[in-house]
Amino acid sequence: MKFFMKKNVLVIALALILNACGAGKALLSVENSPIVTSIDLLNIIDDKVQVGINPGAFTTSTVIFRIPKTVPGTYSSDNYGQYIEDFEALDYKGNLLQSIKLDDNSWSISGAVQLDKVQYWVNDTYDTENDVEDAVFSPAGTNIAEGSNFMLNLHGFVGYFDGFKEVPYAIQIKKPADLLATTTLSGEVDRKPDPIWDAFTAKRYFEVIDNPIMYAKLNIETFEINGITVTLSLYSPNNVYKASDLKDKMVAMMGAQKKFLGDVDSTKEYNILLYMSDINIPDARGFGALEHHTSTVVVLPEAMDIGRLEQAMVDVVSHEFFHIVTPLSVHSKEIQYFDFNDPKMSEHLWMYEGTTEYFANLFQIQQGLISEEEFYERMLTKIVNSKFYDDNMSFTEMSKNILEQPYEPNYANVYEKGALINMCLDIILRKNSNGEKGMLWLMKELSKKYGTDIPFEDEALFAEIVSMTYPEVDVFFKEHVIGATPIDYDVFFAKVGLATKDVQEPTGYFFDGQVPYMDVDVQNDSVVFIRENIELNSFFDNLKLKGGDIFRTINKQEINLETLRPIIGESFSWTPETVVSMTIERASEMISVEGPVGQPVKKVKKIVALEGVSEKTVQLRNAWLKN
Ligand SMILES: [Zn+2]
Repeated sequence: MKFFMKKNVLVIALALILNACGAGKALLSVENSPIVTSIDLLNIIDDKVQVGINPGAFTTSTVIFRIPKTVPGTYSSDNYGQYIEDFEALDYKGNLLQSIKLDDNSWSISGAVQLDKVQYWVNDTYDTENDVEDAVFSPAGTNIAEGSNFMLNLHGFVGYFDGFKEVPYAIQIKKPADLLATTTLSGEVDRKPDPIWDAFTAKRYFEVIDNPIMYAKLNIETFEINGITVTLSLYSPNNVYKASDLKDKMVAMMGAQKKFLGDVDSTKEYNILLYMSDINIPDARGFGALEHHTSTVVVLPEAMDIGRLEQAMVDVVSHEFFHIVTPLSVHSKEIQYFDFNDPKMSEHLWMYEGTTEYFANLFQIQQGLISEEEFYERMLTKIVNSKFYDDNMSFTEMSKNILEQPYEPNYANVYEKGALINMCLDIILRKNSNGEKGMLWLMKELSKKYGTDIPFEDEALFAEIVSMTYPEVDVFFKEHVIGATPIDYDVFFAKVGLATKDVQEPTGYFFDGQVPYMDVDVQNDSVVFIRENIELNSFFDNLKLKGGDIFRTINKQEINLETLRPIIGESFSWTPETVVSMTIERASEMISVEGPVGQPVKKVKKIVALEGVSEKTVQLRNAWLKN
């Protein structure tokens, strides 16, 4: 298995470090010795685990220990320190040193020269998510389920000392022998000779939290995709799903992603940690995923049927995997030097989340996983959804202030309007380059220029992109990304021979698919009435019926829920010429209507291809969608 790296040398080195505790230790300085962290998953008390953090010797009299307030990719303040209890700082003789809690996440320790280690108990987030309003998003959360599952998003367990985020960490985990770790953290999962200790290392604190670990009973599939080893590790509490159930879908999907990305330099190893939550007990409720450089944590309900689960995995994992382009490769200094306790936000969420979400849809049409119609449908849904947020809010201003009001409630628009911003930019680039260049080209250029270790200046990015592209891109940024002017999407659709149009689609007389046009008023003799505030079909429209009208008779039959059923049954054999008569009650008035039932159609918005556009326009559209 490839889900952990074998490095025998490392184990020996770690053993030496462990034995070096005590007297000799004061000779080491923090800069050149790792911060040795131990997590005990065997001795759980009250659903809590004990963590010990053993740094080298400090030379200052005071040192501050912190647990993150926020972590990259979540764009929310979660105060992981609130899950820490009984914090203690101990000197080399095992006596308590004085420590003062400064805020939810920080402890100031006096007499730091004498500090041997800090220790504390950690509570998990998953079983509290039902009760809290602003719960931690589960893919960034933590789980302690004794003997069956541990979701170690390590920012919930391991902290750092102020000024020492760049020092290496050695992480020792004592764990039940039958639970296996899945993680991209470097290290040795040490099943022999001692099956209860795993040992990992990280070059700096960022690496600790960028590599979550999931402990569960073996339920893993590993597969190769064009040079990447992908491991899917699945925890299904009631054994509903096996990793093998999802393997084929993941292979096809990630294969298509690799093809789409082409020569983008990416990771050699990628882990998908899928936690399925039980909706019948207090458990994780934030479904979705969080990106890391070489892995993602996905949380989905175990109650999903296989079809929905597969689709959710395709949409969620493809999004997370595309994050290897941005922000993981292309990002600003705010992200490179992320301040876990006083974060400065970048103004480029339109790219970090918007481009990522756009690519997660675009690759599906380009690689033939969905049809053109399905792609248009997805974009149209995003247009509709984006209107639920503030369409007059500058995207850069929102991004910079995303942890504050009134910006924070608009965050989810990065997946709607953020993706649409990228669609418009993609069309502008294609048009100006005769179909040659698009957003993927731009992101590849940017990732050549920058990369995992080279951030850009936040305020210089737009000018940089404009210098690489066209004046029209500048205008678009100024009006619709920096500026707050809502986008008229039809202007951009027109460039590729598309338009949003109202079209007629066939529907049923009484039902639109599974959805009835009627409802029952249980408060009022259970009368059946036409639903209000919905778009009615041509059948109701032609008979001049309205929302709220109560059915009294149909074809002289008095109507209640029982008697309506056979009429609905009959309606399946109606022809357009069939004549129907009804009495309806509207505002206490009885009204009789009669007429042919016609062929029922409904009005829907669609993105459609325009007739009679030039060959060049059609070629441009094909370059965009079928490149
Ligand atoms: Zn994302």
